[in-house]
Amino acid sequence: MWQSEVRVDLDAIRENVARLKAGTSAELMAVVKADGYGHGMVPAARAALDAGADQLGVCTLDEALRLRQEGITAPVLAWLLDPGLPLHDGIAVGVDLGCASLPQLDEMIEASRRADRPARLHLKIDTGLSRGGATVADWPTLLEAAAKAQADGLVEVVGVWSHFVYADSPGHPTTDRQLAVFREGLEMVTRAGLRPRYRHLANSAATLTRPDTHFDLVRPGIAVYGLSPIAGERFGLRPAMTARARVMLTKRVPAGTGVSYGHTYLTENESNLAVVPLGYADGVPRHASNTGPVLLAGERRTISGRVCMDQFVVDCGDDEVAAGDVVTLFGSGADGEPTADDWAEAVGTINYEIVTRFGGVRVPRVYD
Ligand code: PLP
Repeated sequence: MWQSEVRVDLDAIRENVARLKAGTSAELMAVVKADGYGHGMVPAARAALDAGADQLGVCTLDEALRLRQEGITAPVLAWLLDPGLPLHDGIAVGVDLGCASLPQLDEMIEASRRADRPARLHLKIDTGLSRGGATVADWPTLLEAAAKAQADGLVEVVGVWSHFVYADSPGHPTTDRQLAVFREGLEMVTRAGLRPRYRHLANSAATLTRPDTHFDLVRPGIAVYGLSPIAGERFGLRPAMTARARVMLTKRVPAGTGVSYGHTYLTENESNLAVVPLGYADGVPRHASNTGPVLLAGERRTISGRVCMDQFVVDCGDDEVAAGDVVTLFGSGADGEPTADDWAEAVGTINYEIVTRFGGVRVPRVYD
């Protein structure tokens, strides 16, 4: 009998990818970084590719190499590359590299020589996020150097890309300003004599609501896993992750009993308490103390007292509850359970953070 588990419905991932594909004529890069947003990078990648994803996006070189080691041959872009990495290992297995500066370009040229194969580069322009990407001021110099390296057969510029500031509100005026900067950047690319196959900008929110940002490739992440990037809208997506556990222990306690560390919760009446063997070491945010919703014994209830490292408690009042009962923290919502969105609201974060926390070391992931 399982104790606690994160169930991942790979059919939901397939369905979501098919839905996203149907809404664009661009290619689709499924973003599977951060262990597939907590769903397991390799199974999530395979499900996305099954459903028609054309490419995969990850942050780190290690993530990209792991996909290759697992036999995945689809194009993979890795975009968070700190100095000194063995980039030649990635180039040797055809990993595409995000390039955002001259020093990075120099490293990639060196690594191409070492791998005896031109690196496939996606040049990144910073259109306003002030994170990865070359500023507009540095863009011409980067383009000139990249065009020369390409002419020398050292690299191949296959993409030009950027990332939006407003991942949750694509109608924000900043999105239009970024789009205008991106278009200017693309003109400079043409003037530098480069003809990259892929121009890309769109995250989930823009993929779902801004077809004018799709260009040749869209890069949805959260929507692949069935969660909406925009609070209050669902877009017909199906959440893939369910987190649940079984009650470990129950006890009857008198009114006024303090519960968990610091006694931040006191029972109002004589109550049945259910102890659930999941804590912040398993992904339950400590901020869910006295706020996190669960479905237990047919009712929506709230965590009582502090979330501990390995367990939390739920006051079930007079309701019958027994060891072994299923406690669902979040799922698709189809059976009355809370969703990752409900958790995000209760804890003051975003659904992205809820799902990426789960499925760690102790809680097994089970695939449907
Ligand atoms: N592209 C880049 C560069 C990202 O960092 C991310 C995620 O943060 C995505 C695409 C996917 O974003 P989302 O999960 O909002 O679709």
